[in-house]
Parts: sequence; structure tokens; C-alpha cells
Amino acid sequence: MVTDVHVHVQPIWEMKAAALDVFLKGRDDVDALQKIMRSPEHLLRRLDADGVDRAVLVNYPSPDLMGFSHRVNDYVAQYCAAAPDRLIPMGGVHPRFTDDAAAEVRRAADAGVRALKIHPPHMGFESNAYLHGLDALRDLYAEAQRLKLPVMIHTGTSIFPGARSRVGEPMPIDDVAVDFPDLTLVIAHGGRPLWMEQAFFLVRRFPKVHMDVSGIPPKALLRYFPRLAEIADKVLYGSDWPSPGVASLARNLADFRGLGLPADVETKILETNALALFPA
Ligand SMILES: [Zn+2]
Repeated sequence: MVTDVHVHVQPIWEMKAAALDVFLKGRDDVDALQKIMRSPEHLLRRLDADGVDRAVLVNYPSPDLMGFSHRVNDYVAQYCAAAPDRLIPMGGVHPRFTDDAAAEVRRAADAGVRALKIHPPHMGFESNAYLHGLDALRDLYAEAQRLKLPVMIHTGTSIFPGARSRVGEPMPIDDVAVDFPDLTLVIAHGGRPLWMEQAFFLVRRFPKVHMDVSGIPPKALLRYFPRLAEIADKVLYGSDWPSPGVASLARNLADFRGLGLPADVETKILETNALALFPA
């Protein structure tokens, strides 16, 4: 039961032109992607062909930078309802584009969203910005904690126009983990390519902090995280497909399996850790 916890199936027709250019640049499968973004049947066929049993579909509002509104929550919830055993909806709330972040979190959860994504470089704040006046972000985390919704936080750089990579630094998540000790957190991309040590520290330090390996070329994973096996209980497999530089689900999976990790480590990362966070 392989779960890819980081797949970008999203309403790309809402994307700003400049962002869409970056997203689709150099791809030769744009027509197939357009179909997948509109039809779960097309995605399920692709998952079957590529050997992925379940996928977490990552969405988040970013009206000013990417073009996505809070409607992404309804989009991803409805999309995943076609195959709730295989498709897991991740939505989001933008603290600067809502009057009541807690209510927006409840609305997303009521629609069926099972996890939330925070994208600091695309939302324009640090993950601990509630300490510096962004009260809506505190409300968001508190409500997610209360509803037991895991929160994934992007870390590392981003190449989309207007993205602020500086706030992709993982260390502010230290505050979030201290202030919301019962909140399940997932550090996306392990801080790649600048801050792997910070991500590794946070995963080891806090029981509820996990990490996904998405966006890291699998063949380079052990160069980025030589002590990956030590945190195997908290690491989740993810591809980031079809983001720039990620050609195919199958290729990523094959490269990951080709690393020669111990069998128990591989099983935790590909299968059991994700089942604990997102029960079947
Ligand atoms: Zn991503």
C-alpha cells in the first residue's frame, strides 16, 4: 500500500499565467495533465500505471501569487470523493485572505478536507508569524490541532514568480511545535536545498513533527539526508509530481526503491507511516 503524500493535483485553470508558465514549462504531457486535473478517473489510471496506491492531493489558497482561492478546498474535497480510499484531500487557509481563519478551517473540514498546507514562500509570511502579529495564523493552527488535521508546511526554496524563499527556512517551525504540541506537522521537502540540518533536527526533536522527501531527487536523497534511517519512523514518501523537475510518479518511485534502503526503512517511508497519519 504505497502512499505518495505530495501530489499537486489542483485547479490549474485558476493559476496566474506567470505561475502556470513555470508549472508547465518543458512538459510534454500537458494535455494529459489537463485531463487529470479535471477528472479523478484519469488520475486513478495514472496511479495504477505507476504503482501508487494512494495519493495526498496538495492544495492551498494563494490568491495574490499563484492565483488559487479558498475554493481549492471544495475542489479537492469533491475530487477525492470519487475514490476516498485512494485519494486524500489536502486543502488550506490563507490567514491574510480570510476574516475568520478558524471558521475557514472548519468549513474546509466539513467539506471533507483531511489535512492543511501552509506555504510560507507563496503566502508571504514565516510559519511562526503569529508571534509577530498574524493572529489568524494562530487561529488556524489551534483549530487544526483541535480537529486533529495534520498541517504540512512547505520548507525550502521555490522558483515561482514572486515566491519568497527566505521564509522557507524550517527553523520557525520550532515555535509552532512548541506552541501546538498536539498538532501533527509535516515538513515538506526537508528544507531542500538549503536547510536539511534544520529539518532533521526538528523531526528528531518533536514527536509530532514529520518530514516528506518530496521534491528531492530520489537518487540524491541520501546525499541530502545521510542519517535518513535514524528518522525512518517520521519520514513520508512524496514525489511533488507534476511540479517542475518531477517527470513521472513511476520514475521517482523506482529511483527511491533503487536506493537500497533496509527493507523495514523502505516499508515505513513508503507505506506504514502514511497509514498512521492518514488511516485507510
Ligand atoms: Zn509541493
